[in-house]
Amino acid sequence: METDVAIVGAGPIGTLAAIQARRNETEVIVLEQRAKIGFPDHCAGLISKTGLKKIGLDSLPKSIIQSEKIIGAKFYSPDGTNFKVTRNKTQALVVDRTLFDQYLANKAESCGVTIFRNSKVIDLQYKNDIKKTTLKIKDKLHPSSPLKSLTAPITIISEGRTGRLAKSIGFNSPKKKHRLSGIQYLIENVSELDTQFVEMYFSNFISSGFFTWIIPISENTAKVGLATSDKDAVFRLNYFLKKYTIVKHRFQKAKIIKRYGGEVIVNGLMKNTSTDGIMVAGDAAGQTKATTGGGVITGGLAGIIAGQVASLAIQEKNNCSKFLNKYDTQWKAILRNQLKAMSLFRWLLNRLTDEAFNRAFKTAVENDLGKLIEKKGDIDSQAEIILSLLKEPAVIKLALKLLPMIQF
Ligand SMILES: Cc1cc2nc3c(=O)[nH]c(=O)nc-3n(C[C@H](O)[C@H](O)[C@H](O)COP(=O)(O)OP(=O)(O)OC[C@H]3O[C@@H](n4cnc5c(N)ncnc54)[C@H](O)[C@@H]3O)c2cc1C
Repeated sequence: METDVAIVGAGPIGTLAAIQARRNETEVIVLEQRAKIGFPDHCAGLISKTGLKKIGLDSLPKSIIQSEKIIGAKFYSPDGTNFKVTRNKTQALVVDRTLFDQYLANKAESCGVTIFRNSKVIDLQYKNDIKKTTLKIKDKLHPSSPLKSLTAPITIISEGRTGRLAKSIGFNSPKKKHRLSGIQYLIENVSELDTQFVEMYFSNFISSGFFTWIIPISENTAKVGLATSDKDAVFRLNYFLKKYTIVKHRFQKAKIIKRYGGEVIVNGLMKNTSTDGIMVAGDAAGQTKATTGGGVITGGLAGIIAGQVASLAIQEKNNCSKFLNKYDTQWKAILRNQLKAMSLFRWLLNRLTDEAFNRAFKTAVENDLGKLIEKKGDIDSQAEIILSLLKEPAVIKLALKLLPMIQF
């Protein structure tokens, strides 16, 4: 088989890339190892409205949306000290990730992209003699049948968190230390939910290296999850529900109706994401926000650029690394500073003890830092917020006081 552009993985980044690559009648084939796109899902599905607009998805079908009420977030320290950040209109949607991924796949197919399901790419190489990439594909429906082969001048790797193929050809995809264990339950009968606010709980004991979230999707149903750099994510989430003093009363009648897990990529941003004939995008390139692990918008923006560069490369019959480096240059221009600032903030958060979190939250409340956050930036563009916070006299004073409590 031959095509112009091959894409590994029909996650949101692969399909967004495919839609762009398909421009100018470029032939695009997406290979997806799963039988059913987006299933099982592993994501909380909290996606900013401004971000959706940037990736061309400002009007999603109602059937995909689980909530469109989120106007802000409440942040909690281990002792329950909290502050909230509110805006006056909807900031984020909560989507069903399986339906979201399927919607994007249908969109790609309706513009002429071919998606092969049950097709796992097990090997990828750039052949210098033919100046093309060659993919070896295992048919998961008929595992004993011979491997299929696909040749394409360009391959976009959007295989998600493992970055297995990307690593096999020398890319520096997220390492184990960048992949946090994530676990999430969909829970009914949760009390005291405010449908307009996402809740974020910071505690080294419960979710070291990250945080625990409660994302309401109705008055009594929420997605509750956490990620941690430690082991036993399931034990920690169960502890949060049953024993964590500041919330346990809200889960007394809780009924878990779905359990899902996955790996959240944090701080795994890759420096080089292209070479001869190949580009890497999405989680496989570590293009996620280190503060929240969110990667649909940041990876999506990069995926769109990868698709555009692929289409251009086919038109200009030039797939050399120098040409594909346009992808690196363009995604870095819009994302790199933002993602780096978030990494810095994650680095600082990861050094706070629970006592330091309590002190920091008290300072935030006393100095009304929630209001400062409200004024600056948004969910995806956090650099401005972070820089403003770090320049605040109260934060500088606090940092000096906290120095003895910081774990270096
Ligand atoms: C618990 C959790 C909660 C999250 N919550 C949010 C959130 O609220 N908001 C947000 O923006 N992000 C969130 N994320 C992150 C988000 O899910 C990812 O950033 C996003 O899915 C990345 O998309 P992707 O297309 O790069 O990878 P994926 O969505 O993982 O898609 C990769 C696809 O490639 C396929 N594939 C892999 N290898 C091969 C192969 N060799 N051959 C063929 N196919 C292959 C996979 O089957 C998969 O379909 C969360 C992640 C986790 C784990």
